[in-house]
Amino acid sequence: MLNKESISLLFEEQLASWEQAGNNYKALEGVVAKEVMVDGFPFKVQFNPARIVSSAAKVDAKSIQERKCFLCAANRPAIQKGIDYIYGGDSSNPYTVLINPFPIFPRHLTIPVVAHQDQLIDGKFDAMLDLAAHMPDYSLFYNGPKCGASAPDHFHFQAGNKGFLPLEENLPSMPRTILYEEEGTKVFSIKKSINGLIVIESSRREVAAEMFDEIYSLLEVKEGEREPMLNILCWYKGGVWTTALFIRSKHRPSHYFEEGEKNILISPASVDLGGVFITPLEKDFEKMGSVEIKEILSEVLISFEELALLAQKIKTKLNSL
Ligand SMILES: [Zn+2]
Repeated sequence: MLNKESISLLFEEQLASWEQAGNNYKALEGVVAKEVMVDGFPFKVQFNPARIVSSAAKVDAKSIQERKCFLCAANRPAIQKGIDYIYGGDSSNPYTVLINPFPIFPRHLTIPVVAHQDQLIDGKFDAMLDLAAHMPDYSLFYNGPKCGASAPDHFHFQAGNKGFLPLEENLPSMPRTILYEEEGTKVFSIKKSINGLIVIESSRREVAAEMFDEIYSLLEVKEGEREPMLNILCWYKGGVWTTALFIRSKHRPSHYFEEGEKNILISPASVDLGGVFITPLEKDFEKMGSVEIKEILSEVLISFEELALLAQKIKTKLNSL
């Protein structure tokens, strides 16, 4: 059964018995972080060498095909245990809640579906809302197949303990444009600090899911892709689901491909966009300042201008329902 107690027990048991994971969580306690203010938003930069596996992950079709999927039960280390979670009474496609052995958060979980199937959010967002309600100490996140997921071929969510991502605490005071409002529900776009950000707040799960579906249907799907480029953060607090939708325009920023001095090995995903940039290399940790963060945000997310156009469409659509 998935609840606070079973998750605590899983961590206790896995950190005691699984040496690699135990060491990585211990190492995380000593990682260096700094704060960088960007237009009034307190970003953090974390120097985390163990995350090189994810930041430098090869996610092109050929590399993916040639490696063994690390989220399939058959290929996972025997020592890795999980908690079963069945969504909506559908036992035909359960999820497993696992501890992430390469943590960014002091408590970091990976939640794959059991079956090996592609990373596509369509039809699965409601499960994300349900998981968030089952895990009130955590923020859930989803990285699209071209938006930071290191296993684009195996559907999964991740979760990290609350109190870590600056967005949770700062969102209430961020300037916004309201796009839709009804009792218990608000949809708005953010006007400052982070471009490309739309937020759904609702005390009703089915309304949150409906809002998501409507917004999703308005997003552009790039040629050759199967879903709009997205990162999603979702948490449940005081009876309200908050969902942050980061609308992407690019997978990896130009810094990732630069040579020499300008190179920064950074492959932004939900955690970075939620306020914590992860740098596996020390030289990049030093380099990351407000100019670099702004540049990266402006490259990987749609601009404020593009967001304003999208927001208008969302407003029209939601208010015509
Ligand atoms: Zn798999």
